[in-house]
Amino acid sequence: MKAIAVQPGAGVPDVVERPVPEPAPGEALVRIHRVGVDGTDYEVIEGSHGGAPEGDDRLVLGHEAVGVVDDPNDTELEAGQYVVPTVRRPPPGTETNEYFERGEPDMAPEGAYVERGIVGAHGFMAEYITSPAEFLVPISADLAPWGFLVEPLSITEKALEHARTSRSAFAWQPDAALVLGTGSLGLLTAAMFSAADDFERVYCLGRKDRPHPVIDIIERLGATYIDSRETPVAEIPAAYEPMDLVYEATGYAKHAFESIDALAPNGVAALLGVPGDWTFEVDGGHLHRELVLHNKAVVGTVNSNRSHFEAAIDTLADLPDWVLEAIVTGIYGLEAADRAFPNATAHAATADDESAGTPDDDTTIKTAVEFTAI
Ligand code: NAP
Ligand code: BGC
Ligand code: ZN
Repeated sequence: MKAIAVQPGAGVPDVVERPVPEPAPGEALVRIHRVGVDGTDYEVIEGSHGGAPEGDDRLVLGHEAVGVVDDPNDTELEAGQYVVPTVRRPPPGTETNEYFERGEPDMAPEGAYVERGIVGAHGFMAEYITSPAEFLVPISADLAPWGFLVEPLSITEKALEHARTSRSAFAWQPDAALVLGTGSLGLLTAAMFSAADDFERVYCLGRKDRPHPVIDIIERLGATYIDSRETPVAEIPAAYEPMDLVYEATGYAKHAFESIDALAPNGVAALLGVPGDWTFEVDGGHLHRELVLHNKAVVGTVNSNRSHFEAAIDTLADLPDWVLEAIVTGIYGLEAADRAFPNATAHAATADDESAGTPDDDTTIKTAVEFTAI
């Protein structure tokens, strides 16, 4: 079968040949339909996050997938059922641990999990995958074409749950939400916040010049676009209003600190980005005081568990088609898979420049690879 693999930090994604996997007892065989690409995939490709399984120099990419059960293999699943796989698995050589037993692998510390397509385990960019049935979340056939968006939406379901829970000791009534970042996660989140009744006003911060399709999406959602080059995050309360919730999806480390100033009293910032090391100055006294005297909270949040995937499927069903069609700027078959990675550049002398993706035209938002049409 065909799969898409990369040598992290040393090349660009490539189509490779792999044997069709055999499901072990308790596992189903899934034929993959589509797999999405996000900022994390680029971090894996450039070698700044995650890595191949031990003993392998290549990693099969892909953690945002939807497929159809090909062989249920005596599990409770049925052949023909569409499913979305979750991302985390117990480390190789182990069957489970306390986090997986509790259904909370998303809260496991490093070393207690691998992530398919990201950290230490092959991903879903292949014609077939196997997975324990407990990690396959059923999705209806009518939502399956967009099923690769369930994983990123589940990331925001978890972030919102943790942000809300951090404010659950008092009557928190959020009105204004600010999303930092106009990448795939930021825009999906802005769409989700705008579609739900949770917030009266939604803002989304980016660094695009008008006219731009990303700004068009934000404004069609009824949200307000903020240009970070004109209004730094810390100045947003003065220029717009203080925010009850800030959702950081830029991976720009200064935003973690600037978010504290963007918050209204009693507000919460959820940090999602995964930056590299970066030393810079902040006024620690000011930020410490701000957090304490205004009851502000900052939560970091990563990954998601099955309950968040289930919530994300309901959320996906409520998102208007136009926004999904606008955010997903390209779905490519295997023969054009390099177009799904327009920003991948060769990272090592061994990498073949000819195979590097086409340069970003700045209008790509989210892409997916289609393995089998449905
Ligand atoms: P992405 O597509 O690369 O989007 C990042 C966005 O942030 C881009 O639109 C970029 O703008 C914008 N940005 C960066 N610096 C900025 C700045 N200084 N001012 C304004 N905008 C800025 O990545 P993604 O898939 O949306 O993911 C976003 C981040 O979340 C990444 O760090 C990713 O690793 C992380 N992530 C975390 C989780 C989790 O579980 N915690 C899950 C998924 C993703 P341009 O388009 O102009 O470059
Ligand atoms: C994935 C998460 C994963 C995180 C950190 C994100 O892009 O969506 O499932 O936990 O990266 O590796
Ligand atoms: Zn992701």
